[in-house]
Amino acid sequence: MSFENLGLDPALLSAITKTGFTTPTPVQLAAIPKALKGQDLMVSAQTGSGKTAAFMLPALNRISGMPANKGTGVQVLVLTPTRELAMQVADATKAYGSHLKDLRIAVVVGGMPYGAQLKALSRRVDVLVATPGRLIDHLQARRVNLSTVHTLVLDEADRMLDMGFIEDIETIVSSTPESRQTLLFSATLDGSIARLAGKMMREPEQIEV
Ligand code: AMP
Repeated sequence: MSFENLGLDPALLSAITKTGFTTPTPVQLAAIPKALKGQDLMVSAQTGSGKTAAFMLPALNRISGMPANKGTGVQVLVLTPTRELAMQVADATKAYGSHLKDLRIAVVVGGMPYGAQLKALSRRVDVLVATPGRLIDHLQARRVNLSTVHTLVLDEADRMLDMGFIEDIETIVSSTPESRQTLLFSATLDGSIARLAGKMMREPEQIEV
């Protein structure tokens, strides 16, 4: 099975080729076609499984189809537990989106100065990658508007819950449209993750690879 059969936009396929990927990983094979259909997904995936491309390629596919992707506000929001993971996701997004015209990615994380983040948020943002605490700060100060988000990703959801981000996550999710697509990735899918998904996802399909 190759990336060509998954239903992705040619601009994404050429970026994947440039990145050097030839074969989708199991989590990419299972998740990408379903995510492209617009379904909510709960995916159990470990670090190193290729999970970032599994959510970012379908998310970018929705942006690629939009005329000049301009002026619509934040379209894709990815929440991660740590600054390091947010940076990695942003770097991967740059690579996978390198053939999309003028894609704007912003990173909003704790432990970093506000200046650069304020500047980034004052301009157009297509993909926002954030840790929950700092995003709440910007949200409460009305420096970011999430009403145009069409794809919400919770990356390493179990770690975000372990770190006590549940209330922040609920506040952030309630600031996004109910019509959004929600993609949840986690090492485990039981207990508190299942309860979280029950609150914020619509008939999520469970994928375990
Ligand atoms: P992730 O689990 O998303 O952190 O990805 C782990 C590593 O696998 C990263 O270095 C990716 O660049 C790489 N990777 C992701 N998908 C593929 C693929 N289909 N083929 C080869 N490497 C990949």
